[in-house]
Amino acid sequence: MSAISTPRTSPVSAPRTYRVKSFGCQMNVYDGQRMEELLAHQGIAPAPEGEQADLVVLNTCHIREKAAEKVYSDIGRIIKDARREDGTQPLIAVAGCVAQAEGEEIMARAPAVTMVVGPQAYHRLPEMIARAVDGERVTDTDMPADAKFAALPKRRSVGPTAFLTVQEGCDKFCTYCVVPYTRGAEISRPYADLIAEAHRLVEAGAKEITLLGQNVNAWGGENGKGQKVGLDGLIRDLAAIDGLARIRYTTSHPNDMSDGLIAAHGEVDKLMPFLHLPVQSGSNAILKAMNRSHTAESYLRLLERVREVRPDIALSGDFIVGFPGESEEHFAETIALIDAVGYAQAFSFKYSPRPGTPAATMDDQIPGEVMDDRLQRLQAALNRDQHAFNQASLGRTCDVLIERKGKLPGQWLGKSPWLQSVHFQGDYGVGDILRAELVQAGPNSLTGRVIAQNA
Ligand code: SAM
Ligand code: SF4
Repeated sequence: MSAISTPRTSPVSAPRTYRVKSFGCQMNVYDGQRMEELLAHQGIAPAPEGEQADLVVLNTCHIREKAAEKVYSDIGRIIKDARREDGTQPLIAVAGCVAQAEGEEIMARAPAVTMVVGPQAYHRLPEMIARAVDGERVTDTDMPADAKFAALPKRRSVGPTAFLTVQEGCDKFCTYCVVPYTRGAEISRPYADLIAEAHRLVEAGAKEITLLGQNVNAWGGENGKGQKVGLDGLIRDLAAIDGLARIRYTTSHPNDMSDGLIAAHGEVDKLMPFLHLPVQSGSNAILKAMNRSHTAESYLRLLERVREVRPDIALSGDFIVGFPGESEEHFAETIALIDAVGYAQAFSFKYSPRPGTPAATMDDQIPGEVMDDRLQRLQAALNRDQHAFNQASLGRTCDVLIERKGKLPGQWLGKSPWLQSVHFQGDYGVGDILRAELVQAGPNSLTGRVIAQNA
């Protein structure tokens, strides 16, 4: 452990309760869950609702400026809320990608922060906590990821849907993106570890597993027979696990969409008909400036091939508006791509210059009001298509996996195979799989009429 330690003035006692607050992507949610398990393994309990925790972990996101700035305002609020009569304060750990990118700055700007821990080092939190209790301020932003997963405790209890990180990091270096700097180079977790972890998740209650990675479809490994396999090979082998009903994966890169993975969408029943494939822009000039290795045409061709093997596939994407140099004509090409695809859902963002990335210093940065206007028009097109997709689902019969109780008495919420939220009334439970007809569509969710239980 190459931690840098600096003395801190007010020592605290060993924490008995924790709270982990995760921001950003699903990989952060997964990391947050793993940190919670790690802390619970150390005998530290989750802080009861409404009570101060002895240890607060802010698991941060650095992808856009707003997300990073939020860390400092959160630290200020935690300190204000947590002043205790005996003068002690909670231990505050800043984890995640802001920790990785701005660790030194955080330590300098926020004296109340006791630990800074990068996304590849959080398995060492217990040692860091011990040092923090001894009065040190500790930073650990070491990068290699391989040791982390082996060092984490085994997962014993999960809900009906679970995340499983299979791949981390990125070698693509899109010119706007911090991920290659904060998460490091692409690594794939070993095949055997993933199969074993998936078995444990199913034994612990998971019926659906979502495979995660910054570029999840870049995953590669060697299967039990010594053969090289890609994500499709892993998915096929996971599909053989009894009790596992559904498999999903996210986020994919268009360049790593292999023939085998496309074929798997037509052949593996447990692989859900949903594909999140970010495109970012419909303009080839902007895609080139972004260092995306696909064109609008190659992207559309990929989607066509997936639709050929799985005609009902629900498509999702990511978009950035206002990348430096984006003209009204470039933007119109993005709208044309959206019109051509008909997304079931999508994420869209205003370009946010990130320090240290090539795009941050490019000429022709786009004014905020132009970005606002384009984002509004883009989201109008995406909302229209999401609504159309939901409307087109009416009358379909499908399985819905119940994930949680709804807000109304007797209401339950689950997901359709196409990742739509579906709600029901009735006497059911979390983890039930219901055969249902989709009978009503709102802007963000559908109503289901149950035909049979645990189909
Ligand atoms: N690896 C995935 C891919 O390339 O398709 C995306 C992972 S990234 C964590 C999630 C999304 O954040 C990106 O697809 C992009 O739309 C958005 N994003 C990344 N950097 C951004 C920036 N500087 N400004 C605005 N959005 C950004
Ligand atoms: Fe970021 Fe591009 Fe890597 Fe996705 S592929 S994580 S957008 S650098």
